[in-house]
Amino acid sequence: MGPLRAAAARGLRRGGGRGRGAATGAGKGSKGPAAPGGRPAPPAALHLFGDPAEVEALRGRLLAWYDQSKRDLPWRALAVIEPDVNRRAYAVWVSEIMLQQTQVATVIDYYNRWMQKWPTLQALAEASLEEVNELWAGLGYYSRGKRLQEAARKVVSELAGEMPRTAEELQKLLPGVGRYTAGAIASISYGQATGVVDGNVIRVLCRLRCIGADPSSPPVIDRLWAMANALVDRSRPGDFNQALMELGATVCTPKAPLCGECPVKQHCRARLRVEKELALASQKLLGKLPPVPDVEDCAVGDCPLCPPAAEPWDSSLGVTNFPRKAAKKQPRVEQTATCVLERRGRRGALEYLIVQRPSSGLLAGLWEFPSVPLAPGLQQEQQREVLRDHLQAWMGLPVAAGSLRFMGEVVHVFSHIHQTYVVYSLPLDGDVTLDLASSPSRWVTEEEFRASAVSTAMKKVLKACERQRGEESGPAKGSKRKRGAKPGAGDSTRPGTQLSLCAFLRAPNPP
Ligand code: SF4
Ligand SMILES: [Zn+2]
Repeated sequence: MGPLRAAAARGLRRGGGRGRGAATGAGKGSKGPAAPGGRPAPPAALHLFGDPAEVEALRGRLLAWYDQSKRDLPWRALAVIEPDVNRRAYAVWVSEIMLQQTQVATVIDYYNRWMQKWPTLQALAEASLEEVNELWAGLGYYSRGKRLQEAARKVVSELAGEMPRTAEELQKLLPGVGRYTAGAIASISYGQATGVVDGNVIRVLCRLRCIGADPSSPPVIDRLWAMANALVDRSRPGDFNQALMELGATVCTPKAPLCGECPVKQHCRARLRVEKELALASQKLLGKLPPVPDVEDCAVGDCPLCPPAAEPWDSSLGVTNFPRKAAKKQPRVEQTATCVLERRGRRGALEYLIVQRPSSGLLAGLWEFPSVPLAPGLQQEQQREVLRDHLQAWMGLPVAAGSLRFMGEVVHVFSHIHQTYVVYSLPLDGDVTLDLASSPSRWVTEEEFRASAVSTAMKKVLKACERQRGEESGPAKGSKRKRGAKPGAGDSTRPGTQLSLCAFLRAPNPP
């Protein structure tokens, strides 16, 4: 997953290959110098594209570069060849939603499969959430697929299958479509001359115009949107927007921008600043008086777009001084105990029990191994008991805590949660029928598991189990169980063998 694509509604969004990101902002709270009448003063010339001739030249250079260098991507082809405007908008919309939070290289395969399965809004509207989740499995941020389908249903049922025709209407009428996505669909599919601001565009614009203030703050976001709307080419808005994003993804990259190859380097004030600094340094080395003035910010005191005084320009960073990195929120740390329940199926193949998550919240509607959140600070035996209690309540059968075999730990980082799965396994007798009243569940073979709507985290959990079994069955390696591996009921189970039900299920109060 790319680092920049994150949080359309908040401000900056994902990055990765292409760094999409919508930005919104109410424009409140600017601390810039006030103009007469109490309104914020307009930004200094350093941060503006004030010369129409320069804007024209920049558009031309960027589009010429894009025509030559753009990546061949399936949604771009569809946006060009698809004659039906609704299908075209749908094709762009799907790509934009998938590209939020996810790299281009990963999206391509998902996109092709999606468009093959649901080539139209109508086809998607008729799909089940289960089918959507199955196809989305592994792409992450699962609510995206769900919301896309909900919005498609809305277009079909309430808008007679007609996609809204402007960015404003798209944003207003379609759930899950923010300012960025609306602008992208409208400019690429309909040719509306409207700009887009995502993580890549933010980076390029901040460098072109030396914007070092926090790009997730509303006044800066407002300024960037205004800039994008002013810059967008009137005759080829979709191509221009894609070109700006492509430049950010492939040339003006976060850490190692290729300024020498940049088609708009003549217009880049961050680069100009670096060149001035170099010139100044070499003059000083030669002992000459500086022929160029010292490089400063825009000379507007307390400028709302310059870097804050506490974080001035750092010569060692060059153009990557811009944009300023937004403070990263630390993810929440959580622990979950999860149990891989397994049995031999009718044909002798190993089968796993999976259970469906609720239809709202994190990983809504996805399938997982039975799991229970753990309170912080629990000892291993306490964790095991919590899991045992959960399984007992869920299965309606007594479970001996000692029969839960510790298989290792799996760490998975969601956007805002650092999740550690403490993994146990519990083999069941092949004949046992569980009366699972509370949540939908089913037995699946490994192949069926992989084709199901399961998260990447659950795939890692199964992998950890398989790895542990492999290590245990290796003659020379022995067990690498890290913790909780006391010899006992669990350890009496040899890899590949199954305990019979009575070996580990004991009635709590024997008669
Ligand atoms: S010159 Fe360098 S910093 Fe400026 S836009 Fe091009 S790649 Fe980015
Ligand atoms: Zn400034």
